[in-house]
Amino acid sequence: MAGEPQDDCLFCKIVAGSIPATIVRETETTVAFRDINPQAPTHILVIPKAHYKNAAVLGAEAPQLAADVLAETQAVADEEKLESYRIVFNTGSGAGQTVWHAHAHVLGGRGMEWPPG
Ligand code: C5P
Repeated sequence: MAGEPQDDCLFCKIVAGSIPATIVRETETTVAFRDINPQAPTHILVIPKAHYKNAAVLGAEAPQLAADVLAETQAVADEEKLESYRIVFNTGSGAGQTVWHAHAHVLGGRGMEWPPG
């Protein structure tokens, strides 16, 4: 069923607490934790607790939850005192997605270039 935890999903395991993560915020529907391989001085992932394989599916099947994730990216940026930051949803392997549970990267604390690589 849509949104159900998946046994083989790393981020579902972080939500369940069976894999450790440095959690910085948690709401009823979302978790935010520090990326283990940070690409900027601040690099935090915001995920829905429910399992959707990427941001596109999340937005289509659970739009309120997608809005919760987006609102949490703002809350994370405020807590980290980021004036400018980048929110990235890698969607599909060609775009660099490696974990198949929707997640927003919140990156900040350094200058960013455009276009991204
Ligand atoms: O967008 P993508 O799917 O590549 O992002 C997955 C992210 O999850 C990576 O930045 C990786 O460092 C992070 N990760 C993590 N903790 C884990 C496994 C992966 O923060 N246990």
